[in-house]
Amino acid sequence: MMKSEEVMRILENAIRIGKGVIRYGSVASYIPELAKADKNKLGICLYTIDGNQFETGNTEDRFTIQSISKVMALCLALETFGAEFVFEHVGVEPSGEAFNSLVELDNRSNRPFNPMINSGAITVASLLVNHYSIEDMQKYMQDVCEDPEIAVDEAVFQSEMATCARNKAIAYLLKSKEIIDTDVEDSVTFYTKMCSMSVNARDLAMFGLLLANDGVQLSTGKRLISSQTVRMVQTIMLTCGMYDGSGEFALRTGIPTKSGVGGGLLSVSKKKMGIGIYGPSLDKKGNCIAGCELLGYISEALHLHIFDTREWKVEE
Ligand code: GLN
Repeated sequence: MMKSEEVMRILENAIRIGKGVIRYGSVASYIPELAKADKNKLGICLYTIDGNQFETGNTEDRFTIQSISKVMALCLALETFGAEFVFEHVGVEPSGEAFNSLVELDNRSNRPFNPMINSGAITVASLLVNHYSIEDMQKYMQDVCEDPEIAVDEAVFQSEMATCARNKAIAYLLKSKEIIDTDVEDSVTFYTKMCSMSVNARDLAMFGLLLANDGVQLSTGKRLISSQTVRMVQTIMLTCGMYDGSGEFALRTGIPTKSGVGGGLLSVSKKKMGIGIYGPSLDKKGNCIAGCELLGYISEALHLHIFDTREWKVEE
């Protein structure tokens, strides 16, 4: 049994450890609007399965969800079309390449490696765009995060649309290989809009909690996502969620996690908690530098590694 004060002490330590590495990273600048973020911000929120909330730092600051939307999009696609159909279009192997690479897609494959990199997520978006409006996607995000305020950040959306030549190149390559059959512009617009939804660390923690609780919303007892989808999505987060840093991160923390270049991290600890982190200073691979560091510490302190067999429970 761990006391609540002990958990708070661990979180405060974690923030201190995270702050120590912020200066070694930098904010994303390839989307000009993201360069305006304050790199010193850092916040973490934990929602536990037994109904506790622990948080410290900048947990109310809003930022764009970016690649973490790939997890929601994958959930929605799996629930709508079924796994067989989705994985005919996108694989489940780590790519070992940067998130926006198209090299491996062009040279080695007729399917994007996985849905957590841009080529895979644009493919998923091309499946969704036939069935859903961006408002449907927004509503889905609002539901799974339990936050009706989630909306497109227009400034970030416009900024990325003006500079997304590479994502368009990926989408045209996908089209030329007949992996996507929808309009390229529509698919990229849908993808960029879902990346531009603004969230905070609490929203990510709430979505993490939903996944940690097998897809059942804790507050209502309602099932929002099937067990099968939750299992598949977490597996892919663990193996591919941190791009070409996924293996090292998994070894170190053992927590299925997805990053976004807006500075967010979504982490899931099965039957224990959801974790949301905000810290816009990124490492070379585009992952929140402070978040990766502090999750290593938290994983050890709270026994969150997926293969850790030690018990964990908070005492009031
Ligand atoms: N919208 C961003 C892009 O496509 C998302 C990338 C990310 O978060 N890694 O480049």
